[in-house]
Amino acid sequence: MMKLLQLPLILVSVITSYGYAESAFEQGESSHHEHHAHEHGVARMNIIGDKNLLSITFTIPMLNVTGFEQTPENDSEQKILDDKIALIEKINQWLTLNQQAGCELTQHSVQIDSENEHPDIDFDIHYQCNKPEQLQTIDVNIFKQLDSLEKIEVQWVIANKQSAKSLTKKDKRILVTD
Ligand SMILES: [Zn+2]
Repeated sequence: MMKLLQLPLILVSVITSYGYAESAFEQGESSHHEHHAHEHGVARMNIIGDKNLLSITFTIPMLNVTGFEQTPENDSEQKILDDKIALIEKINQWLTLNQQAGCELTQHSVQIDSENEHPDIDFDIHYQCNKPEQLQTIDVNIFKQLDSLEKIEVQWVIANKQSAKSLTKKDKRILVTD
């Protein structure tokens, strides 16, 4: 059996609720996590498939969501952020799994990770799949909504098989059987 990738901690952490409005804009708290600075233009996606459950975390630099790096400082910036998040939350419009797997979106949440100078927006997305063994393709059509995004670094562990791929505007398909 292949050695599993070392996955970010977020993949195994408990899913938190949609709570960015209450907590994410607090500042001055000292950071208690180690953060790797993101690369502008590059989002990360981690996918774990275990039996009928498929969990996806999608981490995007704030800059590539809103066009500004900091958490919102006024109403117009807040509106830009809210509108973009609402757009990305229409997950079924940009994330498509091949139909034979019978996967249905069961829950999602969004969090703003603003503990460092390069905030990220994290989406947690969960599916329940009737026939997970039939899962073959995951298409990620988010480049239109995030027009400054150049690349999505994807890694996945599905039914104990692991692999990785860089998605671009021209190549948006994950073949999970690869
Ligand atoms: Zn940044």
